[in-house]
Amino acid sequence: MMKWFKRKKKNKVIDQEESAEQLSVNFDAPQDEDRSEEIICLEEPTNTEEDTPSEGTFLPVADFDTGPAESVEKEKGRYFNRLRDRLHKTRENFVTRVDRVVLGKKTIDFDLLDDLEEVLITSDLGVKTTQVLLQKVADKIKRKELRNPEKLRDNLRDEIRNILSVPAPPWNLKSHHPFVIMVIGVNGVGKTTTIGKLAHELKQTGLKVLLVAGDTFRAAAIEQLALWAERVNVPVVRQKSGSDPSAVAFDAIDAAVSRDVDVVLIDTAGRMHTKVNLMEELKKVQRVIQKKIPGAPHEILLVLDSTTGQNALSQVRMFKDQIGISGLILTKLDGTAKGGIIVAISEELQLPVRYIGIGEGLDDLRPFDPDEFTKALF
Ligand code: GDP
Ligand code: GDP
Ligand code: MG
Repeated sequence: MMKWFKRKKKNKVIDQEESAEQLSVNFDAPQDEDRSEEIICLEEPTNTEEDTPSEGTFLPVADFDTGPAESVEKEKGRYFNRLRDRLHKTRENFVTRVDRVVLGKKTIDFDLLDDLEEVLITSDLGVKTTQVLLQKVADKIKRKELRNPEKLRDNLRDEIRNILSVPAPPWNLKSHHPFVIMVIGVNGVGKTTTIGKLAHELKQTGLKVLLVAGDTFRAAAIEQLALWAERVNVPVVRQKSGSDPSAVAFDAIDAAVSRDVDVVLIDTAGRMHTKVNLMEELKKVQRVIQKKIPGAPHEILLVLDSTTGQNALSQVRMFKDQIGISGLILTKLDGTAKGGIIVAISEELQLPVRYIGIGEGLDDLRPFDPDEFTKALF
């Protein structure tokens, strides 16, 4: 079922579907624009049965804590194995090579540390993070706390876990109504896919979710998000391609408020982080949302493709400076040998990784848990 809006012209049905239901909303369009002819389409899921809200409004959390203890353990084990399996390329490129350097050696000498340095750098941990790690190792050797090359491996694992444990207070999704999440990043990193997966997770906790097709630049992007909305069974606010993304966001916030939505997920166009004008477009979206709901967007998540390796660092820096970022999502950790980038990002930028993408399926977005991740990797 579709519901159509026509801006400023209340109760006027835009043909499209004969059975289309009307939903009139009072729009206060931003003064700087005349968009009186723009049409907003709010696509409704066909199945409108309500989920029962649960207590699970603090995210991201690994959602294992339901059901009998036995099945929780089973589920945990299954997920861990899947994560381990999906990280196999990074493990081969990184941990297996660390093993080759340390195992069977009798002492930790300069040659060994040299080899280790090379493995770390070429595993996308980057020069700076590699130095931080090696310095810690060197300190321990000096203090005679570390002699055994095999212990060096455990040491490295523990240090990496510490680096990955960037403070990440859970989102209290009930603290704002609606809670607005904007998803940004360069082209093709997995923004739209991630929103689909995230919507699925949020909906499962009983929250009312609204998707916003803010990538109006590529026509296919709107369709892609609408498909996810259908799959996950949540509504989506969309306009025709080419329209102003901040206008879409403007209407989406109105729709969210009037429909008592809990969480709004805003998709945005992928853009080269080096293009100033496109950054300006993103800032405008941000401003429009802020004007409607002071303090919103409550989370700005930068999506990074882990297969890009070191370039991800410069993406984070640029978006952080220009827009501000509250958290990261690393996608495509399956099938890449460059997963070590997650360590470099955590060490150098101190931003929490909220979720990781380990595949293209609905259940392939997982809350990031440094402990579990390190265990799965090593
Ligand atoms: P966007 O341009 O940032 O919105 O990126 P899309 O969401 O369109 O994703 C680009 C491609 O990456 C699609 O083919 C997705 O299926 C794929 N993708 C996204 N996340 C993952 C992931 O975690 N693993 C894998 N293997 N593919 C992913
Ligand atoms: P090129 O490297 O100069 O060819 O730029 P692109 O191929 O990235 O984009 C071509 C045109 O589309 C330029 O005029 C850009 O300003 C515009 N453009 C690119 N990305 C976006 C976007 O995300 N949103 C909008 N609105 N315009 C974009
Ligand atoms: Mg997209």
